[in-house]
Amino acid sequence: MASSNLTPKEILKNTFGFNEFRPMQEEIINQALNNEDSVVLMPTGGGKSLCFQIPALAKDGLTLVISPLISLMQDQVMALRSHGINAFFFNSTQNAKEQAEVMDSIMSNKAKLLYVSPEKLMSQEFSGILQSANINLISIDEAHCISSWGHDFRPEYTKLGFLKQKFPNIPIMALTATADKITRNDILKQLKIEHAHVHIASFDRPNLSLSVEQGIDKIKKILDFVGKRPNTSGIIYCLSRKECETTANKLQANGYNAEYYHAGRKSDERANIQKRFIKDETPIICATIAFGMGIDKSNVRWVIHSNMPKNMEGFYQEIGRAGRDGLPSDTLLFYSLRDVILLKQFAEDSGQKELQLAKLERMQDYSESPVCRRKILLSYFNETLEEDCGNCDVCKNPPKQFDGTINTQKALSTIYRSEENLSTSALINVLRGTLNNQTFDFQDIKTFGIGKEILFKDWQSYLLQMLHQGLFDIAYDDHNKLKLTELAHKVLFQNKKISLVQVKKKEKEKIGTLSKRIRKEKPIKTTLFEKLRKIRTELATKYKVPPYVIFSDATLQQMVEDKPVNEDQMSNISGVGDHKLEKYGSYFINAIYEDLNKDNKKGAAYKDTIALYKRGKTVAEIAKSRKVQETTVMSHIARGLESDEGLDIFDFIDLDEYKAVKRAYIECGRSHQLKPIFEKLEETISYGKIRLCLSHFKSNE
Ligand code: ADP
Ligand code: ZN
Repeated sequence: MASSNLTPKEILKNTFGFNEFRPMQEEIINQALNNEDSVVLMPTGGGKSLCFQIPALAKDGLTLVISPLISLMQDQVMALRSHGINAFFFNSTQNAKEQAEVMDSIMSNKAKLLYVSPEKLMSQEFSGILQSANINLISIDEAHCISSWGHDFRPEYTKLGFLKQKFPNIPIMALTATADKITRNDILKQLKIEHAHVHIASFDRPNLSLSVEQGIDKIKKILDFVGKRPNTSGIIYCLSRKECETTANKLQANGYNAEYYHAGRKSDERANIQKRFIKDETPIICATIAFGMGIDKSNVRWVIHSNMPKNMEGFYQEIGRAGRDGLPSDTLLFYSLRDVILLKQFAEDSGQKELQLAKLERMQDYSESPVCRRKILLSYFNETLEEDCGNCDVCKNPPKQFDGTINTQKALSTIYRSEENLSTSALINVLRGTLNNQTFDFQDIKTFGIGKEILFKDWQSYLLQMLHQGLFDIAYDDHNKLKLTELAHKVLFQNKKISLVQVKKKEKEKIGTLSKRIRKEKPIKTTLFEKLRKIRTELATKYKVPPYVIFSDATLQQMVEDKPVNEDQMSNISGVGDHKLEKYGSYFINAIYEDLNKDNKKGAAYKDTIALYKRGKTVAEIAKSRKVQETTVMSHIARGLESDEGLDIFDFIDLDEYKAVKRAYIECGRSHQLKPIFEKLEETISYGKIRLCLSHFKSNE
């Protein structure tokens, strides 16, 4: 039974401010409204939350959301409240009083959504809620946690099967960003919803640019990359704690605001770093993969992997943290032989050797791909991309292949002549004829110095390619010495041809291929964008929420493009729902209005306002007829006062107020900022009136 009498589409528009559903959302929502079970597989940022939030609002009663992480719950509840929705969580961070308040709102039928962890769900305290609440939908977020095959197994999730037994008529919606078949089947089976509709959305995230660089001169390349993206937020993933620290230190030394994050830091330090990142206070975090899980921040503009991840699932999840707002965002992976060796060692020692090695190999496929990288990525998730993506480094700058048989023969025959006693760096030093303690015993072999003309780092790249083509193995149990394979013998003795990818000469120019759309079509950093961003930060501080909860980058971007100057126009911006329009709309409308006036003085619309005023209309009437807020009308009048349009300030403000503002103005050091004066007056005189006075002082100074 629908309680709000609004259709899902209307709720989408009025509450969330979005005009269109994304693929599959509407169908999933309708199934929940028909009390049918479903499993939803969508990539991070795909829009899973709305699938259960809209039915929650459309139906009578309470939607339960089972979620594994407290931080994630809190973020979602905060975001829902910013839309004016009665959402709650129930977890161990709350005291008895807070829990009782939650209980009250449930019993009085006010709560629409309740987030709870699986542990709490099964607890004694919660059984009362389960008994008496009018539950209309049970949604299970991060449902892959149920599968012991997955990368994030949580034993408590396996107990959730009781829900269907206990509440056979309440629909269950299980959601995850992990797409593999084993996990999916585990979800269906363990939740006892074998007949559920299964929705698998495309895992393509076309707004993420993909690129791979050699892991040489990394710091220099990272500095270059961040230098091209001023005022943006990003994450740099590193394999070791030490690398997190050194990378953050290097960035700081170069004037960037960066911090490091890893499991070795105290938990309160970690929580604070995360908070500063979310609030846009620290834009760059250098972190191990411990960072990011449970962060909903939608305006992460880039992700760098300083080291290669051990599998594609992890990689995709990590880059997926960029660009959740759908705007162009960049990803960059550094690929090096050293990492491959290290990760292979981990895999060998992992107890799941075969599986881990196979997964690592797919990661190498991606890193070395001579074809569109997105094709490789998507094929891993069983999707095919027909056309090249045009938004990866391979598409933008196709690698040149050459006949690398001679180079390969030089390397392989050196390994052969050393009786397979060389590690990678020793091999390169022998090839380049560098005499040191690594090569001392090999200076007499015939190929010593045979590859002098090739730089050390270029040899690294070619050897990596050879390794990947299966020409040798690395003996992890024998000082990482290189051992020839069957195929190597064919190259050495049967003249088998090998092609290699040319090492790129002008690497610097293409680092982190700036997203085409950012560069060419949508210059995101117009001054208006920065102004709106600043207003967003001020509002975020005022309302104690992260900036992106006020409005996403995508919403601000659309404001910059469409320049809404009244509420009607503002409500057409994607992401501006009724509640946010009322609460924040005027701040942004005013800023846009002022910006337009600045650009276009001739058409100054404030003159129309003043003309109306002179015709005897009141401020309220003008606001209504022009579809703007009264504060906007006041700002027009302020301009009128400044440009001597024959207005009398005392038509708008009485003498006592004028004097009070004057005093506060002087006490604030004659600053023309509104806020300090507003606060000095203990918020008793409106911004509109203060602005009028300031204009008056200005024109009389
Ligand atoms: P997920 O849970 O799948 O990672 P979210 O539910 O957090 O993704 O959604 C990601 C972003 O996409 C959010 O900023 C959300 O507001 C936005 N979004 C979701 N659905 C739509 C839609 N129909 N139109 C526009 N934006 C949407
Ligand atoms: Zn491509």
